[in-house]
Amino acid sequence: MEYVNGSKEASNLIQTPVEVLFQTFNETTRLLVNELECTYLEALAETGENIFQDDIRQENISEMTKKRLEKYYRDLVKMNYSAEDIRKAFQLACLKGMRENVQPNHQMTPDSIGIFLSYLINKFIGTKKAFSLLDPAIGTGNLVTTIMNYLPHHAIDAYGVDVDDVLIRLAYVSANLQEHPLQLDCQDSLEPLFIDPVDVVVCDLPVGYYPNDIRAAEYELKADSGHSYAHHLFIEKSCLNTVDGGYLFFIIPNGLFESPEAMKLHTYIKKHMHIQALLQLPETMFKNKQVAKSILVLQKHGEGVKPPKEVLLVNLPSLSNKLQMETIMAKIDIWFQENKVH
Ligand code: SAM
Repeated sequence: MEYVNGSKEASNLIQTPVEVLFQTFNETTRLLVNELECTYLEALAETGENIFQDDIRQENISEMTKKRLEKYYRDLVKMNYSAEDIRKAFQLACLKGMRENVQPNHQMTPDSIGIFLSYLINKFIGTKKAFSLLDPAIGTGNLVTTIMNYLPHHAIDAYGVDVDDVLIRLAYVSANLQEHPLQLDCQDSLEPLFIDPVDVVVCDLPVGYYPNDIRAAEYELKADSGHSYAHHLFIEKSCLNTVDGGYLFFIIPNGLFESPEAMKLHTYIKKHMHIQALLQLPETMFKNKQVAKSILVLQKHGEGVKPPKEVLLVNLPSLSNKLQMETIMAKIDIWFQENKVH
């Protein structure tokens, strides 16, 4: 697991409605794991769909399990849950499932990052109250739905793509339960996308080699020999799928600009986008220094779009340290006043 804070922060989030919801997700998931002989995450998607459809969709389960599920679901309806309660409880259940079946690069983005990104998006897009948003590696949808919950006064036309069918089902169920109209596609994002260019891209980049050399050959950022870096191709693909002047928010590995291919990436970024900000996430958030990450904010070139006078460079404190975060946000506010990025 790259992020260490997921479980720690998530357990801090437990409050009564979240706890009740989590227990229902967890216990009904366990029942379905036994009946369907599937993984925890697959069963979580099944139970989430049952709750959303208000129906038990699995045909080959015992009467006893059916009755027990019905009882859990009935009890749930009696309480009113906010979208955030649902997202937090679902996040806890996903973390539990991911711990049981660890897959590198499939890590859910912790909500502390999503909350901070929603703040940054709001600052960068300025007065715009409606915008389109794409996450080309949406995973469980935790990052995107956190952003949607924390920007309740914005009309967000949101799209998500992921190659992993279980994760995209989780994103679908989670978005449905939170009542977010999210359009999802299960496919390789580096293949042609049938989504119009968006105003904002967010992406916790999958880091590593992209195995499809034939597809990679279509990209400027392809490697000269061997497999290309998926995270570089994702940056190029995201740029292609952004409107002129649109913003891109990437969660990147700290060593992004130090790899052997970094020069090419730098040249590509300079040619098509302006670097607006680089904010280093606290190392305590990660298992070790090698997997620590930063937030990179880019703006695609366009008519009248100027680079900032200076790039915003910040070392973030622990995102849960209110006092230090307020100081940093005051610094960011000053940067916005001086750089007039809109
Ligand atoms: N933000 C996500 C969330 O909150 O759950 C987590 C993103 S995770 C760090 C990276 C995601 O990239 C994984 O879900 C993985 O399946 C996806 N991915 C990797 N390669 C991909 C590709 N070629 N096309 C689409 N998705 C891909």
